[in-house]
Amino acid sequence: MPPHRATAPADTAVIGLTTALILARRGYRVHVVAKNLPEDDLDQDWSSPWAGANWCPFGAEERVCRWETESLARLRELIPMGLAMPLPVLRYAPTDAGLHKHWYENVVTNYRRLDPAECPNGGVGVAFESLSVNAPVYLKWIEAQCRALGVTIVRGDVAALADVVKPTTRVVVNATGLGSLTLTDVLDAAVEPIRGQIVLVRAPKVKRCVMDSSRAHIDPTRSTYIIPRPNSGGVTICGGCYEVGSWERAPDPALSRRILEECLAHVPELSADGTVEGMDVIRECVGFRPSRAGGPRLEREDRAVRGRRVAIVHAYGIGPAGFQASWGMAKDAADLVAGAVLDAEAAQLKARL
Ligand SMILES: Cc1cc2nc3c(=O)[nH]c(=O)nc-3n(C[C@H](O)[C@H](O)[C@H](O)COP(=O)(O)OP(=O)(O)OC[C@H]3O[C@@H](n4cnc5c(N)ncnc54)[C@H](O)[C@@H]3O)c2cc1C
Repeated sequence: MPPHRATAPADTAVIGLTTALILARRGYRVHVVAKNLPEDDLDQDWSSPWAGANWCPFGAEERVCRWETESLARLRELIPMGLAMPLPVLRYAPTDAGLHKHWYENVVTNYRRLDPAECPNGGVGVAFESLSVNAPVYLKWIEAQCRALGVTIVRGDVAALADVVKPTTRVVVNATGLGSLTLTDVLDAAVEPIRGQIVLVRAPKVKRCVMDSSRAHIDPTRSTYIIPRPNSGGVTICGGCYEVGSWERAPDPALSRRILEECLAHVPELSADGTVEGMDVIRECVGFRPSRAGGPRLEREDRAVRGRRVAIVHAYGIGPAGFQASWGMAKDAADLVAGAVLDAEAAQLKARL
């Protein structure tokens, strides 16, 4: 293995682990330090275990579209392993703007614009084929892939990125999500949570996904979605909400009731008898999407740490799209790492001449 050392300091979540895996596959030595490990699948301090996690774009920013296109191809490869499940999706929005210029029309299969009569609340909609991933199971799978390639993974609560720089470290990947708000040498004030409340329901008959934001023009926090989770014994995720800036950890019972009622109206198979009381509720949960005003941060920053030049590759702030953008974003992060390692080698060579 080449004598490179890329340290992903604080992330065993979807962005950091995917970056670690791509780097390890390219032959880099990778050491991961993170406060939360994939086994912490009920911990609200990180976002990844709470994800739906389906593939359904939330915007049309060019680089994110590229990340999502790349990731869909990679996630499709997981279907034969049972890590991802193909799903028909119905998506509703108040106006065409909520369908993001239909940029993914030719990325997914069987894309069809719905007739207005098929859409709720006077809105618009599309139907297409996508997929969902079982987030907690998938994280453990990527972790195992990383370890099999020699990636070392340790638990650690890091105060500053500089704390993880060892004498052999050339690059630090900062994929800390909301952690970038408080790391003392990052303190990115643009980072913000988007609170999501979900209710897990056992409903093995549900085999389709509905994403309904058709009331978002009245209440932007409002969104209803139903995402069956593969390889889970029939668990379906019922959501939800998008509460920007809220850190409220406790589920709101009134919101859970509203979520269940609206999900049931879309997918009657969620209940044994067609009522909310007939739904087999497993638990209510709250997670926080690691968002960033102005968009995700993916860039290299060169710094002097204890008198030595170290490259920091920032890869955080992906908000509601961390799984569906993971492989593309991680590949770009890995390319930045590779460039930084080459630059470090060139500088070393020059110093010797
Ligand atoms: C309810 C809900 C539904 C969602 N649904 C979807 C979906 O359907 N599709 C989709 O693509 N995405 C979805 N998401 C979003 C997705 O979960 C996130 O985009 C993704 O998990 C972000 O991953 P991340 O690696 O950037 O951050 P995180 O998962 O938050 O990971 C951050 C990592 O950094 C570590 N860390 C932070 N600070 C420190 C520190 N100081 N020291 C050490 N370690 C530190 C944490 O321990 C963790 O390992 C959903 C999210 C929620 C909450």
